[in-house]
Amino acid sequence: MFPGNVTKRLKALLRQPDGALSKELERVDAGMGLGQLPARLRPDSTTTSICGFCSTGCGLRIHLKDGAAQNLSPDSAYPVNLGMACPKGWQALTPLAADDRATEPLVRNSSGTFQPVDWDCAMDKMVTNFRAVQERHGEDAVAFLSTGQIPTEEMVFLGALAKFGMGMRHGDGNTRQCMATSVVAYKESFGFDAPPYTYADLEESDVIVLVGSNLCIAHPILWQRVTRNTRNPEIIVVDPRRTETAMAADHHLPLSPKSDLLLFYSVAQVLIERSWIDRTYISQHTEGFEEFAEHVAKFPPHAVAAATGLATSSIVDLAERIHLGKRVSFWWTMGVNQGHEAVRTAQALIALALMTGNMGRPGTGANSITGQCNAMGSRLFSNTTSLFGGRAFGNAEDRRQVAKILGIHESTIPRTDSLAYDQIVDEIEAGRIKALWVVGTNGSHSWTHQSAFRKTLAKLDYLVVQDLYADTETARQAHLILPAAGWGEKEGTFINSERRIGLTKKVSRAPGQALSDFNIFRLIAHHWGCGKMFERWKTPEDVFDVIKQLSEGRPCDISGIEGYHQLDRDGGVQWPWSATDITVPPASKRRLFEDGHYFRSNGRARFCFDAPRPVAEPPDESYPLILLTGRGSSTEWHTQTRTRRSPVLRKLSREGAWVEVHPADAERFAIEPGGLVRVTSRRGSIEARGVMTATVGRGRVFIPMHCAETNQLTRRTLDPHSRQPSYKHCAVRIAPL
Ligand code: SF4
Repeated sequence: MFPGNVTKRLKALLRQPDGALSKELERVDAGMGLGQLPARLRPDSTTTSICGFCSTGCGLRIHLKDGAAQNLSPDSAYPVNLGMACPKGWQALTPLAADDRATEPLVRNSSGTFQPVDWDCAMDKMVTNFRAVQERHGEDAVAFLSTGQIPTEEMVFLGALAKFGMGMRHGDGNTRQCMATSVVAYKESFGFDAPPYTYADLEESDVIVLVGSNLCIAHPILWQRVTRNTRNPEIIVVDPRRTETAMAADHHLPLSPKSDLLLFYSVAQVLIERSWIDRTYISQHTEGFEEFAEHVAKFPPHAVAAATGLATSSIVDLAERIHLGKRVSFWWTMGVNQGHEAVRTAQALIALALMTGNMGRPGTGANSITGQCNAMGSRLFSNTTSLFGGRAFGNAEDRRQVAKILGIHESTIPRTDSLAYDQIVDEIEAGRIKALWVVGTNGSHSWTHQSAFRKTLAKLDYLVVQDLYADTETARQAHLILPAAGWGEKEGTFINSERRIGLTKKVSRAPGQALSDFNIFRLIAHHWGCGKMFERWKTPEDVFDVIKQLSEGRPCDISGIEGYHQLDRDGGVQWPWSATDITVPPASKRRLFEDGHYFRSNGRARFCFDAPRPVAEPPDESYPLILLTGRGSSTEWHTQTRTRRSPVLRKLSREGAWVEVHPADAERFAIEPGGLVRVTSRRGSIEARGVMTATVGRGRVFIPMHCAETNQLTRRTLDPHSRQPSYKHCAVRIAPL
């Protein structure tokens, strides 16, 4: 990727004293490429990249002047977005130019204020404090929390550095908050975390069932793909709220919050009772159907109608529409994943696809749409709760393979899984984890029961936060802030929802002393004394080669990808693409399981199910309403760390916290339209502007997850299989202010 003389220079740098390395890395990140433009970029031309917000993974054309990005437009040649972009994509460069970027490392001094230091001083502080904690309390007393927002190469570096270089065992990603459910559901049902679809399936379905998925604003480009479907599909939305997507659909089932598992078991019961199932597919490609059929027999529509809030006929009608469709696809996002029985709900959708033979054909599938731009990279290669490439820490052969590829001793690899996000929080609370390294995530905003989370973080002896901005809620609690380069200021690969590996490029200079996460990890490795372990990891593309090796022979095999130049040339490549596939160019759209062979040892998909469980906090006299949370608009992204830096995106969003209330509830609780409302749960109380709307049902209120205050109210209820929090249900009360 880069000229040989640059690589030679970096090799020499690794042998230089501390100061020389940090200064040179600063020069590298403050410049373009590795100190000079990559050969294929002419200073005043256009290059391509992948958007760094959501998992759709749209291709962008970046327009350059003097080698740096001036503007961008959607890439009409990219097979994902076909020339479209949502407002966030159009504004992707703006947050980089914000004048409040973190530009130098900051250390909290004895009076509690932040003081700028150079990188060598920052490294010294981090290493000294982390080592002191490990020496006093054991290696497990230091942990990390990372993100789905950095390239896969950086995730691999972080996972290897923290666990094999620095001796940590515990580290999890913020993907626990959004995608853990789908990971577990797919692993148990298909034998691997394998979303089976290609986006073209949205254009090739007869019946599209969207569950807990507000595609219109959460994944607007995927909604555009739906509108390109020439088969005049029936679009069915299952969602407690009448969302933008529900309004655009043919049918909306406004079920009671968190009654989705009951609903899908009941639909399965109807399909089986009426023999609207594909017995050949079931017998050839699945296992556990008879037990599943026996289980769902307990849920005929009349028995669940009241609990789901739907008419018996609506449930039968949904089953019939699935039966009549020749190509039926089931899609879900956070409405399913963030629930108290989320894994079993996702698997109920998988069951509906399997039992009706809607798998492996155009326009079909049980399809989880993920959230962050590289959540899929995190799922496979972050080395957090599973070993690289979807392997298991507890499996000796898996550890041997990884050790061989990385050239490290097998004993360096932990033999047990990491604790999950919530368990790491509990260990901090219990005083057993004493130091934490947070990379590119903002848990003090986004984790449940915010005040408790912040109090827990305050117990840490040492908190390091690595981010683009020093003012995130989490960074404000840090002892040390490491300024990171953002999307567009570094290169690497993202894996999108349809398993497509795309290349994101450096098109802008990092401000001040900010370094790419990749170079921060290199610097930390150097100062920790384990730099030798990463001697051959000089550029992101070096690590991409390692990722290819880690993937070899796995379901996510990408060993056939020639290198970054192929990703650039071919519009990304979907996994799998193994070395044995390289004789033919990869088709631009591929789906899994076309041969009906799944990744489980017997090649069969498995029906997984459980008895439905009641919600943890039903409404009662004191807290009579159900709080639903979710995406507020297509212009806001998660904790708004980046999107609020764009005046355009800010203008397109509502300001401050707001709560949607049904007009009947507004009358009942004397709420005025536009008036201030106090929303209170058992965990806290917030003020929000009241919005009267019948899109949220009676007895429920809705607050967007982007509001800084929302998670003061939410409850830490976890799905027992994925340990993902149920952000979609807790009890609150409202009162006018
Ligand atoms: Fe970026 Fe997602 Fe918008 Fe596409 S849909 S432009 S990937 S934020």
